[in-house]
Amino acid sequence: MTTIKLRNLRKEFDDVVAVNGIDLTIEDGEFLVIVGPSGCGKSTTLRLLAGLEQATDGRIGMNGRDVTDTEPKNRNVAMVFQNYALYPHMTGRRNITFGMKSTGSFTDEDIDRRVEEVAETLDITDLLDRKPQAMSGGERQRIALGRAIVRDPDAFLMDEPLSNLDAKLRIQMRAELTRLHAELQTTTIYVTHDQTEAMTLGERVVVMNDGQIMQVDSPQVLYDFPENRFVAEFIGDPAMNMIDVTVEHWTAVHDAFELPLPSDGGEDGITETSPAARQSKEQQAAILGIRPEDFYLAREYPDLGDETFTATVDVTEPLGDSLLIHCSVGDAAFKIQAEPRTSLQTGDEITVTYDPERLHLFDPETGEAVY
Ligand code: ATP
Repeated sequence: MTTIKLRNLRKEFDDVVAVNGIDLTIEDGEFLVIVGPSGCGKSTTLRLLAGLEQATDGRIGMNGRDVTDTEPKNRNVAMVFQNYALYPHMTGRRNITFGMKSTGSFTDEDIDRRVEEVAETLDITDLLDRKPQAMSGGERQRIALGRAIVRDPDAFLMDEPLSNLDAKLRIQMRAELTRLHAELQTTTIYVTHDQTEAMTLGERVVVMNDGQIMQVDSPQVLYDFPENRFVAEFIGDPAMNMIDVTVEHWTAVHDAFELPLPSDGGEDGITETSPAARQSKEQQAAILGIRPEDFYLAREYPDLGDETFTATVDVTEPLGDSLLIHCSVGDAAFKIQAEPRTSLQTGDEITVTYDPERLHLFDPETGEAVY
């Protein structure tokens, strides 16, 4: 059983606040991904967990034990790094077992048996007698994973472990990590800047920005119900469209169009207490968020909705499985993900419709979702 608790965790480097008060509980056996842009504090959070950095403030608990000031070697966690961190002069086997004997926890027979088991699990038996320079990037990363697994740690801490692999291998290794996790059920905290990787791997995903947690949820909830503009724009590819509007009478109004918002069930279709309802009472500025895949060309989806507006095609980008249409209406520019092989030219007028249930509204000042 490994539960990890971070309480008001903070790390400063001189005048840089890398981690700015994080509260998080990682459940036993969970695969938790931390994602965010470069410099948001992901790696520092992981290094604090590993004990490679000392917290400026806050506490770290593992299995009910306060480990904030515990030496890294006494935390029983295994770290996997982006650059593999293998010893070049040692064979795969030595890299995997290095330092195990000195812990005093493993006999020679234990070590041999465990290496064989791990090598089989990771399909690296052939690599055990090779040195890293005679291995591909993917093979090196398997050895690095083997080194983490062989110790049977309480938790794996993985810092962008797939970033140095080519795109195809990365997808293959992603599936393998998922399989490995299903088999081992070891609590895993995985850091990446790649939202696709986060969404495919994480049972829960922590989105970070500027040293703070912006939202923690399952991948689907992050996609469907982003709590703020940052998460809305960070999760999803292509990114969510953001359009300045005014909300009045339950309608998002722009100079060039009016999009009625769906009701949320109260009297007159509006729940009196909801922030959106309050916003709807008076005219208020808001940011309307809608994903490119939630806009539709009316000619392709004639039954979708009555609400349509006309936009002008600026550029089209064929993506193979879809066509990304960059278009504009008045001063609002946005993207629509349409069916592939849709024939459109720059300057064409298109009639656009949308799924009203998939609209988001954000407060322009705080960025918080208000609907
Ligand atoms: P990346 O994806 O680029 O690795 P990250 O989200 O992992 O970024 P961190 O490496 O945790 O971000 O860094 C967070 C902030 O702390 C950055 O502004 C970084 O420059 C700063 N920082 C990290 N380590 C140190 C250090 N040892 N000394 C000074 N500043 C540091």
